[in-house]
Amino acid sequence: MTETTTQTTGLEAVTAMDEAAVRRNDRAYVFHSWSAQAKIDPLPIASAEGSYFTDYEGRRYLDFSSQLVNVNIGYQHPRLVTAIQEQAARLTTISPAFANDARSEAARMIVEVAPATMDKVFFTNGGADANENAVRMARLHTGRQKVLAAYRSYHGATAGAITLTGDPRRWGSEPAQPGVVHYWGPYLYRSAFHATTQEQECERALQHLRDTLMVEGAHTVAAIILETVVGTNGILVPPDGYLAGVREICDEHGIVMIADEVMSGFGRCGEWFAIDHWGVAPDLISFAKGVNSGYVPIGGVVISGDIAATFDDTSYPGGLTYSGHPLACASAVASMTIFKDEGILENARHLGSVIGPELEALAADHPSVGETRGLGVFWALELVKDRETREPLVPYNAAGAAAGPMNEFAAACKERGLWPFTHFNRTHVVPPCTTTEAEVREGLAVLDEALKVADSYS
Ligand code: PLP
Repeated sequence: MTETTTQTTGLEAVTAMDEAAVRRNDRAYVFHSWSAQAKIDPLPIASAEGSYFTDYEGRRYLDFSSQLVNVNIGYQHPRLVTAIQEQAARLTTISPAFANDARSEAARMIVEVAPATMDKVFFTNGGADANENAVRMARLHTGRQKVLAAYRSYHGATAGAITLTGDPRRWGSEPAQPGVVHYWGPYLYRSAFHATTQEQECERALQHLRDTLMVEGAHTVAAIILETVVGTNGILVPPDGYLAGVREICDEHGIVMIADEVMSGFGRCGEWFAIDHWGVAPDLISFAKGVNSGYVPIGGVVISGDIAATFDDTSYPGGLTYSGHPLACASAVASMTIFKDEGILENARHLGSVIGPELEALAADHPSVGETRGLGVFWALELVKDRETREPLVPYNAAGAAAGPMNEFAAACKERGLWPFTHFNRTHVVPPCTTTEAEVREGLAVLDEALKVADSYS
């Protein structure tokens, strides 16, 4: 051991950095995800609190993105920060091979709020590996290989999860893994089935799923995975009856139903799980993000009793060194406790009742708004060149929002102190679940101004 010469933590160099130093270091040494490295200039953030973050020049941004739709509890929630500090002082790491108090309590609390048929929790480090494990469990449980996943979905960026993904983010990772077949889910505004009502869309989407199973061979299909409410592909709320229909199809053929609630769960839709809105119990639920708002990385799979029992006597072949990390699990326990104590689900539901009509009003005033949709604090405005033809404001492309008018729209928001979530031709309204009504109205007023930029292209 080298002799300790100072008592410093090493963080002095970090806290002493000014904006220029952060930018310099970042550009010199950090390789960023989903980016052309030479073309980006990420904004250095100095601090954050509640629904706002602040840059080094003291500009405050109201966050209508919740980062990557994960900061459901808001930034630097004092009780959550304290819980993490307390757990760090008690026990910072213990492998999944041991039992641990924080992990066992996090699992108990998650099972308590999950559908009644669900019994156990398998912890992961995030959403992608939750989906990887859900698929693995389904394959081992059924002894089948094939998985049906929806187009217009995102399930994560690891090898298996990106294979499940049904959007252009998969292209760069192809050839993908074998055994995944994509199908179309419901999306009335751009119906793959030429439907004109939600009832038709629901019925035809379910028939399409049945047809897909017929030609694929239902007996070869281990699982159907879907985002309960589709997230980054446009906040697509399923029509009533769709999820119950998928459940019925799965039951008919012995197929495992996997609900990806990585984005839609833990308050985002005003419930613990989005699927609670429809009273449907899937066999597996993948989660991450909102469970502890990403204060420490964590994800997992909630498992039905039936599937969990498959591994009573047969070893489950999966797990990572940090799965069920005590710091992450303690923060999940604290986060769920705070959600209950502070009525955060109720607040998210209330915000939904404000945002919905306000977005309708924006649509009435702005010709660039083709459709608004969502629930809780999970909303999208779909921007179009022409309301009649529904031609998107920017063409469908692999780069998401990296196209002219949407960039101008985003810049107009940022100039006015609002950080938007834009993807392809949409802006999503996804602030923290703890945002106040006044803050939401402040953000919507900025959208009202910024939409004039989009209108100029319509
Ligand atoms: N599933 C959904 C629905 C998501 O929205 C995401 C991320 O945005 C993921 C999975 C992947 O989660 P992670 O980035 O934590 O791996």
